[in-house]
Amino acid sequence: MSGERQDDDFLLGNARFTNLNKATDTMTTKQNKILIVGAGLSGSVLARQLAEANLSCVVIDRRENIAGMCYSSRDEETGIDVHRFGPHIFHTSNERVWSFVNRFDHWAPWVNQIKANNAKGVFSMPINLQTINQLFGANMNPMQAKEFIKSKQDKSIIEPKNAEEQLLRFVGSDIYETFFRDYSTKQWGVSPRELSADIIKRIPVRFNYSDNYYFDKYQGFPMSGYTQWVANMLKHELIELRLQTAYDPSMKDEYAHVFYSGPLDEYFEYSEGDLSYRTVDFKYERGMGDLQGCGCMNYTDMSVPYTRAHEHKYFSPWESHEKSVLLYEYSREASRDDDRFYPKRMPEDMLRLTQYMKLAEKEEKTSFIGRLGCYRYLDMHHVIAISLDYAQAYLSWRDGSSTPLSKWATSPC
Ligand SMILES: Cc1cc2nc3c(=O)[nH]c(=O)nc-3n(C[C@H](O)[C@H](O)[C@H](O)COP(=O)(O)OP(=O)(O)OC[C@H]3O[C@@H](n4cnc5c(N)ncnc54)[C@H](O)[C@@H]3O)c2cc1C
Repeated sequence: MSGERQDDDFLLGNARFTNLNKATDTMTTKQNKILIVGAGLSGSVLARQLAEANLSCVVIDRRENIAGMCYSSRDEETGIDVHRFGPHIFHTSNERVWSFVNRFDHWAPWVNQIKANNAKGVFSMPINLQTINQLFGANMNPMQAKEFIKSKQDKSIIEPKNAEEQLLRFVGSDIYETFFRDYSTKQWGVSPRELSADIIKRIPVRFNYSDNYYFDKYQGFPMSGYTQWVANMLKHELIELRLQTAYDPSMKDEYAHVFYSGPLDEYFEYSEGDLSYRTVDFKYERGMGDLQGCGCMNYTDMSVPYTRAHEHKYFSPWESHEKSVLLYEYSREASRDDDRFYPKRMPEDMLRLTQYMKLAEKEEKTSFIGRLGCYRYLDMHHVIAISLDYAQAYLSWRDGSSTPLSKWATSPC
């Protein structure tokens, strides 16, 4: 195995981290000190930008590790780097984001190719000419397939009222039932009939054999692993990291500004009710050689209780391992004590969100950042771009060259 590193340093390393990012004498005045709640990607990018603008930042996280949802560490039994909260495939076409991420590690290219597994077989995703020809037992060329899918679309649906109608309108019932109905029900815990049509803005159907999941110019993995990559970002003399430290409102008085990337409802002590999320339980399977033959496999039948399985050795193709580790994902409703994965954004959530936004507007020196603070699903490249912009907005506001500063790094609605 090449590219060996010491992940334990980042697992339990409160002391290690504190040593790594030793607080300096400059970190004294209240007027200049910034508190960043959360050492995930949003908090870490923001901290780095502010530190480089000569501001002292204290980054706290209640976990014992950095990197939030991007956290990865080596599996003890197999030595494979495991993305502990599900596979994270970095992709972007944003040159500024790409050049920022490259400052903190070398990146290995990757093409995300996903399979869908159900009673009818194993299919290529996203839906492409291979998927269509296999499902319908045909040999269509691109033009024929386009016409064929058109003939399958439910044209009686003009204004889709929910995700099911949206899908039926786009791809018809065969594709909907084979790939989306059960998968989506397992993932969200409700039928696509209860999900907003907006969730499915567009379905990537390709009328060629391209099975690259993303169209982005850059796609890949940090070769030292996500945790080390974030650690490199946080390595700055003006950043002090405190792990296993939960946010407490009394902390606010000590700082010039607070950037909060924790859950929005929790910040306001759930006064307007809980914002709903899905969480995921992972079951690990280990064995010799290859266990499923690809990185990501979606299970699209209701009879299989898990939604996905990922074989993590595929996410570091520059290494070689005799053993393998497979993680099965079981999706369920999140409680307050769970890690919150996917914001559900049901109609009742959106009403609560509006109430929380009103409360947030009254906060004097707190800004809300990241996927939990803004109650939005955001990919890594989104979060990075948003934090880069927001750091700039804060700096301009601070030096008086622009006003006002929005409460939100990105709009929650
Ligand atoms: C299952 C899953 C798969 C994903 N796959 C991809 C992918 O393939 N590609 C991609 O681009 N993106 C992916 N993402 C999105 C990616 O994880 C996010 O973009 C990114 O993690 C957001 O970073 P964040 O800092 O906003 O939030 P988080 O990573 O959640 O970080 C927030 C941090 O704040 C800390 N915190 C919260 N409350 C408090 C508190 N009160 N006190 C102290 N600390 C606190 C938390 O412990 C956490 O460390 C995926 C997300 C999930 C859930």
